[in-house]
Amino acid sequence: MQTHARVVIVGGGCVGAGILYGLAKRGWTDVALLERTQLTAGSTWHAAGLIPSYARNINVGRMINKTIEIYEGLEAETGQPVGWHKCGQLRIANSRDRLDEYKSYMSVAEVQGMRAQLLTPDEARKLWPLLDNKEMLGALYHPDDGHIAPADVTHAMAKGARDLGAKVYLNTEVTGFKRTAGGEWLVQTNKGDITCEHVICATGNYARQTGALLGLDIPAIPILHQYWITEAVPEVVERKRAGRPEMPILRDEGFEGYLREEGDGLMFGPYERAEHLKLFAEDGVPAWFGADLLEEDFEAVSWNWEQALRLVPALGRVGIKANVRGPFQMTADELPLMGPAWGLPNVWLAEGVPGGILWGGTIGYYLSERIVEGGNSLDTSDLDPRRFGDYANKEWTRQKVREAWGTHAEQKYPGQDMPAARPQKTAPSYDRLTELGAVWGVLNGWEMPNWFARDGVEAKDQASWRWT
Ligand SMILES: Cc1cc2nc3c(=O)[nH]c(=O)nc-3n(C[C@H](O)[C@H](O)[C@H](O)COP(=O)(O)OP(=O)(O)OC[C@H]3O[C@@H](n4cnc5c(N)ncnc54)[C@H](O)[C@@H]3O)c2cc1C
Repeated sequence: MQTHARVVIVGGGCVGAGILYGLAKRGWTDVALLERTQLTAGSTWHAAGLIPSYARNINVGRMINKTIEIYEGLEAETGQPVGWHKCGQLRIANSRDRLDEYKSYMSVAEVQGMRAQLLTPDEARKLWPLLDNKEMLGALYHPDDGHIAPADVTHAMAKGARDLGAKVYLNTEVTGFKRTAGGEWLVQTNKGDITCEHVICATGNYARQTGALLGLDIPAIPILHQYWITEAVPEVVERKRAGRPEMPILRDEGFEGYLREEGDGLMFGPYERAEHLKLFAEDGVPAWFGADLLEEDFEAVSWNWEQALRLVPALGRVGIKANVRGPFQMTADELPLMGPAWGLPNVWLAEGVPGGILWGGTIGYYLSERIVEGGNSLDTSDLDPRRFGDYANKEWTRQKVREAWGTHAEQKYPGQDMPAARPQKTAPSYDRLTELGAVWGVLNGWEMPNWFARDGVEAKDQASWRWT
């Protein structure tokens, strides 16, 4: 292995490969990616590959656009197939509030440069004829979304970067970091040391362990998620025979999950609710866990499955072929930790990335821009790892992660501050203001009164709702 590089990237999942590609495209090719086993061996290889573009935050949506743009060009550029299916995505609204949410999003989508359409129930049924949802009020359609083969897209980005001169070292595990007297970083590995100007950590489920090597308490903990793949579904087979387009990825709040075509069958991925959600490797990824899957946990999502059968009866008429259950990193707000590590010059984080396939391309683009150009052309502060303060310890993260994924499919409202792991920081007036009916929001860990409930009922209800 070389003993010096301008940049060392730790971790060869979709995110690490995306950064390698991003740096190489900007002309920084003296870059070494170190991967403890094989590329994609972390969470990347078993991901469902969805690239869902819906974000109510303008800059987050723009960043997602960038991923789609990058992935769409990769195959032609690298000669490596990436399995991109631009089938679109359909989100079903069954409640007035959800439909309002989608309506208000339309102007956001326009600013983001995202193509989006509001559909009537009849229009949605034309796109998804297997859906028998009588409660549907409308749907949001993104024609440019799709799914991609996670391992292939990772290898394509790595190849694109290698073709430009960047290096990948497999079976190379980073075991420590030291700051040199000259202000560089000495990265220690099982294959020897390598010094560098910049270190970038993209270690997926190992984020907390990598953070510990640097003295950082990284606010991310993996959760367990799963999907199922069915045997051939006659309606899907018939659509293919008739030359019909692939149906869009379907998300219906009626079953809180996603459904898409996979071969001749369907892939069903339910969102685990908080009470059934399992966290993983809270104390570090165990030594026995490699590129493994975990045992199926049907109990965790039996409600979602029953609802899905009600809404898509074709799903229940065929057998199940496979279950895929594994860990991936989660943060308190379901957004990655991308940017400078606090207190450590030239150490950059691309950790805690929930949806690393969705984020890989764009993190590669914007993190490399930040490092090479010294700033970003887009405000990426929503992803800044320093957005949480010293209160974001492991227990806080544990509770927030459970809340974030456990309520993923629930209706959220603008300005809503989720209640888990609160209060963290209160002013001396907290109890008195609570008595007066304060309904609390939170800002950088501090409880702030948002408004005062007239009779105190709402305030009391909100304050008493706690996660165990
Ligand atoms: C069932 C399931 C379905 C999913 N579906 C989707 C989806 O549809 N779309 C989507 O975007 N995401 C999906 N995800 C999430 C996705 O899998 C992850 O978010 C993504 O793979 C994370 O990529 P990463 O590069 O951050 O981490 P990883 O892929 O885990 O890569 C991290 C790498 O770092 C290496 N590493 C760790 N420590 C060290 C060290 N000390 N030295 C050297 N190397 C090290 C590891 O070996 C690993 O290869 C799904 C996850 C699951 C479980």
